[in-house]
Amino acid sequence: MFTLLPFHIFFNYRKGKTPRRPPPKKPSNNQKDPVGVYCRVRPLGAEDGECCVEVISSTTIQLHAPDGLKANRNGEFKETQYSFKKVFGIKTTQCELFEDVAKPLADDLIHGKNGLLFTYGVTGSGKTYTMTGSPGQGGLLPRSLDMIFNSIGPFQAKRFVFKPDDKNGMEVQNQVDALLERQKRESQQSVPKTPSSRQRVDPEFADMINPDEACKADDVDEDSSYSVFVSYIEIYNNYIYDLLEEAPMDLIKPKPPQSKILREDQNHNMYVAGCTEVEVKSTEEAFEVFWRGQKKRRIANTQLNRESSRSHSVFIIKLAQAPLDADGDNVLQDKNQVNVSQLCLVDLAGSERTSRTRAEGSRLREAGNINQSLMTLRTCIEVLRENQMCGTNKMVPYRDSKVTHLFKNYFDGEGKVRMVVCVNPKTDDYEETMLVMRFAEMTQEVEVARPVDRPICGFAAGRRQRNQERGGPVDGEPPAALNQLLQSFPPLPASELSDPNDDHTIPRLIEALEKRHRIRQMVTEDYNKAANMLKSMLQDLDGNLMSKENFIQDQRGRLGEKDKMIQNQKNEIDRLEKKSKMLEYKIDILQKTTNIYEEDKRALQHELESRDHRLQREVSEKKRMEVRMHGLVTDEKLRWQKECERRVNAKELEMQNKLWVKDEKLKQLKAIVTESKTDSRPDQPQRPSREKDRVPAKRSASPSPVPAPVWPLPQALRPAPLSLSTSSMSVASCISEWEQRVPQTDRQGSPSPPHGRSRAQGPPSSLSRRRGRCWARDCEVPVQPADVGLEEVGYRTGPPVRPMHRRSHSAGAERWVDHKPSTNVELDTVMQPSVANAIKVSAPSEKALAKCDKYMLTHQEMASDGEIQTKLIKGEVFKTRGGGQSVQFTDIETLKQENPLGPSRKRTSSETGPNQEECKDGSWTDVETRCAVAVEMRAGSNLGPGYQNHGYSKRRKP
Ligand code: ADP
Ligand code: MG
Repeated sequence: MFTLLPFHIFFNYRKGKTPRRPPPKKPSNNQKDPVGVYCRVRPLGAEDGECCVEVISSTTIQLHAPDGLKANRNGEFKETQYSFKKVFGIKTTQCELFEDVAKPLADDLIHGKNGLLFTYGVTGSGKTYTMTGSPGQGGLLPRSLDMIFNSIGPFQAKRFVFKPDDKNGMEVQNQVDALLERQKRESQQSVPKTPSSRQRVDPEFADMINPDEACKADDVDEDSSYSVFVSYIEIYNNYIYDLLEEAPMDLIKPKPPQSKILREDQNHNMYVAGCTEVEVKSTEEAFEVFWRGQKKRRIANTQLNRESSRSHSVFIIKLAQAPLDADGDNVLQDKNQVNVSQLCLVDLAGSERTSRTRAEGSRLREAGNINQSLMTLRTCIEVLRENQMCGTNKMVPYRDSKVTHLFKNYFDGEGKVRMVVCVNPKTDDYEETMLVMRFAEMTQEVEVARPVDRPICGFAAGRRQRNQERGGPVDGEPPAALNQLLQSFPPLPASELSDPNDDHTIPRLIEALEKRHRIRQMVTEDYNKAANMLKSMLQDLDGNLMSKENFIQDQRGRLGEKDKMIQNQKNEIDRLEKKSKMLEYKIDILQKTTNIYEEDKRALQHELESRDHRLQREVSEKKRMEVRMHGLVTDEKLRWQKECERRVNAKELEMQNKLWVKDEKLKQLKAIVTESKTDSRPDQPQRPSREKDRVPAKRSASPSPVPAPVWPLPQALRPAPLSLSTSSMSVASCISEWEQRVPQTDRQGSPSPPHGRSRAQGPPSSLSRRRGRCWARDCEVPVQPADVGLEEVGYRTGPPVRPMHRRSHSAGAERWVDHKPSTNVELDTVMQPSVANAIKVSAPSEKALAKCDKYMLTHQEMASDGEIQTKLIKGEVFKTRGGGQSVQFTDIETLKQENPLGPSRKRTSSETGPNQEECKDGSWTDVETRCAVAVEMRAGSNLGPGYQNHGYSKRRKP
C-alpha cells in the first residue's frame, strides 16, 4: 500500500515537470494610449446650494462661476469648459460607469495586462462612492472583482497552488505542499473554506451587485489556471500601511501600525515589500477581505484620530495565471510560465487645499502632506506630459511621494491608466473643482505604452477540455491513494476524560498517537526514499532530456546550416542560370555577328574574285594591246623602211631609166651615126652596150613597140596564164611602171595596192622567227579562191590567152632558170629544192630565160603559224613575138616546216575577224597573186609596164 504512493507522486510530479525553456521576453511596444480621463458628476446633496457644473455633451462639462466669484479681475462672468474622454452625468448608474471605465481594465487583467484606475476629486465628490459604492450600488471595485471571478471561476487553481514569492512574483507549489497548506489552513480556521452564499458576507457589502448585472470577460484562456490575490494598503502622511496584515489586536493598548516600504522587483516594478497578499477564490471572499481592511482602516483612523479622506487607499487585485501542462490536468510547475497581472484601484485623498481643511496642529501637517502627494502627482504628470510633447528627457520626480513612486511603472512602463474625476457640482467646491478639472485635462495628454499580449505557451489548446472529458483530476485534487492513506491511519481512541483516575485513556491515546507517529515516520521514510529515487530518476531523465534537447538543438543547428547551404546553393544555381542565360544570349548574338561577317566575307571574296578576273582580263588585254602595239610599231617601222626602200628603188629605177633613155638615145644616135657608115647590116639586132651590166631588165620609157594585151585590174585577179614579157621592156622598168600605177588604182578605190611587202625582202632579221602581228597578217593570207585557182585550177584549166610560141623541148633535157632571191634564208630542211641542169640566178635575167624553157622562183614567206614556208613557183618560158621572153606560171610547190610541239599558230576567227578585209585587200599583194597577174606590156598601155619578176629589186639594201 505504501509502495504505491511514491509512484503516484512520481506520476504527478512527472506531469508537473516541464522542459526548461527561456523565460518569456516581454515584447517591446511602440504603441501608446493617452491616460483615459473620465468625469463623473454626482448629484447635488440636499443641503448643497447652487450647481456650478453643467454637462453640455458626452465629453464636455462647463463650469459656471458662482455669483460671488463672477466679478473677477475683469468683472466678467466666467464660464469654463473642460473636455474628457467621457463625461458621466448625475444619472449615470454604477453599472454604466463600470461598463465604460473599469470593465476594459478587468478584461485586460484577465488577459495578463496591468491596469491602474484611480478616482480624483475633492472630498465628498463621490470618489469612494465611485470606487466602492454602497449596498445595492456596488462601485467599480466589487464589480471588477465580480467580473474577474465570473470569468475565471471554473479555471481557478486550488488554493496554495500559486504562492507569492515575497518579491512581487508568483511561484507554483507542488501539489503535496499545496495540499498540506490547505489542510493546515482548514485545521487552523474553523470557518468554512469559502462563503458559499452572499448572506454569509458582512451585510454592509451584501447585495453590492445585482446578479442581473453580472458580467464576464470574453476569450478567457481555458488552458490556464488562475488565482486571485488581493492586497489593501493605505498611504497616509506618506506612509504605507498594510490593511490586511494579521496582527494581534490589543484592544486595550493598541500598537501603532507598522509602515511598509517600497521595493523594486527584478522587472523594475515597484511593490510594497512584505505586503499581505490574500488568495481569494470568490467575489464574496474578496469582499470580505476588503471589508476587513476597511474595518481596520476605520478603527485605525478612529484610534489615531485621522480623517479617512486624508488618506489614499489602494486595493490591488493580482491575477496569477499559468498554463496547464500538456495533459491538461495540472498547472505547469515553471515559474517562468506564471504570468502575474495586477489591477490597482486607488481611491485618492481629497484634492482640496490645506486652507480649506479644518485641520489644526498635527492635522494641518498631515493635510499638507496629503496635498504634497497630490502635488507630486501633478508635478509628475506635468513633467511626463512635457517630456512626451517636447521630446525632452526631464527627470520625473516619482520618488517624491509614495503614491507616485508606487505607480511609477504604469507611467514609465506599460499598462492602461484611467482616472475618474469626481465632481461635486455644488458652488462651494467651484474653485477646487476648477483646479481638479485643469489637472484632469492635463493628465489626459500623457501617454502610456499600451500593454502587449502575453506570449502563448507552446502547448496545444483545449487541454483542459480533453482532460475533463477523461475525468482526470484538476489542479491539485489530492490523489485518491493519498486520501486513502490518510484515512487508513488508526482511528484515535476516545479522549474524553470523565474520571480523574482514568489511567487508560491517556496511555491509549499516547499509544495510538505513537502508532500514528510510527506510521507517519515510516511513510515519511518511504516517501523520502521514493522522493530520492524519484529525484535521481528525474535527474537522469532531466539529463536525458537535456542531452536530447542538446541533440535536437544540435540537429536544428545543422538543419539551419543545411538550410542555409541549400539556400546558398539555390542562390548559386539561380546566379549560374542567369549567367548561362546571359552567355547563351551572348553566344546567340555572336553567332548572328559571325553569320553577318561570314556573309560579308563571302561577298567580299566574290567581289575580290570578280575584281581578280577583271584584273586578269585587263592584264591580258593590256598584254595583248602591248603586243599589238608592238606589232603595229614594228609593222609601221617595217612599212616605212620598205616605203623608203621602195622610193629609193623607184628613184634608182627612174634614174636608171633616164640613164637608159639617154643610153637609148645615144644608141640611136650611134646607130644613126653607124647607119650612115654601115647601111649593109640593118637586120642585126643591137644590144645595148651596157646590157650586161644592167641587170636584169631594160625598159624603155617610151611605149613598147610591141603591143601587149591589156588586162583590166579586176580581171587580173582571175586565174589566168601569166606572162612575163622581156621583149622590148626590161623587168625593172616593168616593176617601176607597175608600182607607179598602184597609187592610181588606190585613188580609184580599187582594192589596196600591193605594198611590195610580198617580196619578202628586207634584212634577214625580218625573216627571223620573230613575227609581228602585222607581218603575220600580211603573210598569212588565207587561201583565196584566186589562189586556189591559181594553184590547183587556174593555170591548169585556163588556156593561155594568147597562143605563144613554146620552145621545143629536147627530150628529157629541160633547162630551168632557178631564181633564188638573195634575201632567201638558208633553211636546214631535209627537203631542199634543187633542180639539176639549172641556171641559178638571184635575179631574173633575160639572158638566162633565153637559154631556158622552165622558170622556178623560190619564194619564202611567213605562214599563218609563223613558220617560214617556201614556195616554189614554177612556170614555162615562152618566146614572145617581139623577141622577148615571157613566163607563164603553171605550178606552185609549197615546202613548210612545222614544230609539232609548238603552239598552233593558226589564227582564230576572232583574231582574223577585224582584219579580214585588210587581209583580203592585202591578198592580192601576195607574190602568187602578183605573179598570177599576167601582164604583157604593150606600147601605149595605160596600165604601165607589166612586171617580169616578183618585184624583187635588183638592188638590195645592205
Ligand atoms: P468622497 O469619497 O469623494 O469624499 P463619497 O464617496 O464619500 O465622497 O461621497 C459622499 C456622499 O455622497 C456619500 O454619501 C455618497 O453616498 C454620496 N454620493 C457620492 N456620489 C454619489 C452619486 N453619484 N450618486 C448618489 N450619491 C452619491
Ligand atoms: Mg472617500
